[in-house]
Amino acid sequence: MNKGNKLYEGKAKIIYETNDKYLVIQHFKDDATAFNNLKKAKVEGKGVLNNRISEYILTNLGQCGIKNHLIKRLNMREQLIKKAEIFPIEFIVRNIATGSLTKRLNIPEGTVLDKPLLEYCYKKDELQDPLVSKEHIYSFGWATEDEIKLIDSMTLRINDLLSGIFRGIGIKLIDFKIEYGKVWNESLKKKEIVLADEISPDTCRLWDIKTERKLDKDRFRKDLGNVIQAYQEVARRLGIMPEETNISEVNFGKTVPIKLKKK
Ligand code: UDP
Repeated sequence: MNKGNKLYEGKAKIIYETNDKYLVIQHFKDDATAFNNLKKAKVEGKGVLNNRISEYILTNLGQCGIKNHLIKRLNMREQLIKKAEIFPIEFIVRNIATGSLTKRLNIPEGTVLDKPLLEYCYKKDELQDPLVSKEHIYSFGWATEDEIKLIDSMTLRINDLLSGIFRGIGIKLIDFKIEYGKVWNESLKKKEIVLADEISPDTCRLWDIKTERKLDKDRFRKDLGNVIQAYQEVARRLGIMPEETNISEVNFGKTVPIKLKKK
């Protein structure tokens, strides 16, 4: 697969075209941003870990019937994915109240929600990704009612599957953001909706079950330190530490053996 021109560069990833018009390469950078780009830094090794963690999660979801854009991981920082027309919406799922929900509605931090709460944000950096209703989505043609019906049911299923994956390694899935796109299905000769983008500690809030220690991007947002060690801990618990990284072996003050797993 030949890597072609850069098609798009976002805050944490770059998309390159390939010689196949239906496929692109997704490259994971080390850049971290927060608060609508006001806070920026390089977190060395983050891209490598997110590439590996997202590959692991999307592969597992795929095995459970969740259609997604991943074809295969190519190397430490890149994945071959299906080229998708991304819906301009961030789909947020919350199991426990924290972050913007607690601020917006004065809900006590840590409230366990009776059922998963779905939120929709319009992807527009200039507007700081505002929360919108389904009516806005339909009114402005960002997605149809049928598309949102399908996406909502996929999203709730993903929440159940992800919650199980993380609970199995001693982690609570507090909330997360996912994106969807439409890809061309050659055998069906029509477009279909797939899970796209990434699922990683950049896009999920993950708390250790026993200690409630944050193992996600909040360590960067809130200057809690040990950002890469937290991502590394998630990868280590999933059993997928990447092979040749120069990421520190120090895990919250303890030295942990890095397991060498080759694919
Ligand atoms: N999130 C994300 N990208 C965004 C906004 C949110 O991945 O642009 C994720 C975030 O990591 C969290 C969830 O979506 O897991 C809910 O985020 P919230 O609205 O609480 O965001 P905050 O404003 O607190 O970052």
